[in-house]
Amino acid sequence: MNIVLVGGGHAHVHVLAELARKNLPGARVTLVTPSPETPYSGMIPGVVAGLYRREEAHVDLARLCAATGARLLLGEARGLDRAGKRLLLASGETVPYDLVSFDVGATPATRGVMGAREHAIVAKTISRFLEKFEHLRDMARAPTGPRRIVVVGGGAGGVELALAISARLLADARDEGRGDKDFSLALVTAHALLPTHSAGARRRVRAALARAGVAVIEQSPVTGISADAVHCANGARIAADATILTTAAAPPDWFAGLDLPRDGDGFLAVRPTLQSTGDDDVFAAGDCAALIASPREKAGVYAVRAGPPLAANIVRRAMGRATLPWTPQSAHLSIIATADGRAIAARGPFTIEGAWVWRWKQRLDRAWMARYRGLKPD
Ligand SMILES: Cc1cc2nc3c(=O)[nH]c(=O)nc-3n(C[C@H](O)[C@H](O)[C@H](O)COP(=O)(O)OP(=O)(O)OC[C@H]3O[C@@H](n4cnc5c(N)ncnc54)[C@H](O)[C@@H]3O)c2cc1C
Repeated sequence: MNIVLVGGGHAHVHVLAELARKNLPGARVTLVTPSPETPYSGMIPGVVAGLYRREEAHVDLARLCAATGARLLLGEARGLDRAGKRLLLASGETVPYDLVSFDVGATPATRGVMGAREHAIVAKTISRFLEKFEHLRDMARAPTGPRRIVVVGGGAGGVELALAISARLLADARDEGRGDKDFSLALVTAHALLPTHSAGARRRVRAALARAGVAVIEQSPVTGISADAVHCANGARIAADATILTTAAAPPDWFAGLDLPRDGDGFLAVRPTLQSTGDDDVFAAGDCAALIASPREKAGVYAVRAGPPLAANIVRRAMGRATLPWTPQSAHLSIIATADGRAIAARGPFTIEGAWVWRWKQRLDRAWMARYRGLKPD
């Protein structure tokens, strides 16, 4: 039995550990991933802010595969031959499967934003983003370097990144004795700030952005990005030496070629069992999947939550047993780090803020990482 896990996202990290624990007789598990490490989204803004080292916020997939007995195949999926039961890779290689599961994430939507690919720093893939951010920091060191920074996207990721970028660039400037007065930061968003959060959470986040000197420009869909500005549908032009794009998630382009049902936005349509609505041997979870019966926003927290039901159902299907439905919780705890030693926690209408919330978030995130870091080969 060949079980092929495509992408080392948050759900698959758990699946790898669980499949090893179950020790399915005759099962051969393969992880296909372009990189031997995967970022843990909750800690990435902390890397940008300089609060975590890069390696603290990445799961070492090579080590995890070694610890769980899975085969690591470095490569990028590009398609699926369902009739031949083969995964197709960008390299031209094929990987036979009996069960295949996708947890390949999403990318910020750039369609409809002219010049985004040429001029914006896109927040995904996160490894590429982190490289480009380091380059931005280097450029900002020059006297004529970028000073007007714009973050596009008013979701939790955009807010955290704007706060983290502001904190880091201003700290660099102060550390190097350059002074931080000539920097300007803006967050531009198509709708209201944090549309899925409560009014109380939004109030606290607005205050944190104001303290950090980040201007918030709402109800301004961005239609174009050029070398020196962000252009909005309402005609506004916001001067920008560097633009970071964290807009709503879009599926990978190659999903368009999959002979599998997808939702209106192009994500893989799955049943409550996390099986494709069109194929019982194909599973999907995390940002790349759309739970048709209970749609949820694209967030790392749901990808993490999908890990246990996905693992259980892959095992059940492999053993010829019926798979079980899963309904993700409707409200989730969202903790937004404000990059000033504090964080804002929100769940439904409740919000709370403080230095202890940041310490709490650190404990939760480090505990998640430790669970998969600590696994050792038998
Ligand atoms: C800057 C930033 C901050 C964020 N902060 C938060 C937060 O604090 N809390 C939160 O809940 N969400 C946050 N998010 C959203 C979060 O990143 C995503 O919702 C989450 O990463 C989704 O997890 P996933 O498992 O679906 O995919 P991912 O974490 O994106 O993992 C996908 C994996 O698949 C691999 N892959 C990609 N393409 C292929 C391919 N073709 N073949 C094989 N492998 C492939 C990738 O290398 C990667 O390892 C943030 C997003 C950004 C950009």
